[in-house]
Amino acid sequence: MCEAKAKEKPVCRRCKSSDVMADAYAEWNVEAQRWEVANTFDKGAFCNRCDGETTLDWVPVDTPEPDDDDETETEGEVP
Ligand SMILES: [Zn+2]
Repeated sequence: MCEAKAKEKPVCRRCKSSDVMADAYAEWNVEAQRWEVANTFDKGAFCNRCDGETTLDWVPVDTPEPDDDDETETEGEVP
C-alpha cells in the first residue's frame, strides 16, 4: 500500500471559503523572469468572500485518486 501524503488547503476561519489569499513576500527569479513566492504569512490573510482580512484554518482535502478513465469529463476547448 502506498500512502499518499494528505493534501490540505487554507480556508477562511469565518466562512470556511477556500477563496483566500495569503500575505507573502515574493523574490524575483532572474532565470525564470518571474516573481516567486519566498515566504507566506498566516497572519494578514485575505478572504475574497468576506472581502476582508481573516485567519486561515488548514483543512485536509479529500482528493480521491482517479482510478478509471471515464470520458465523461472531456472538456476540451474547441476553437
Ligand atoms: Zn471568509
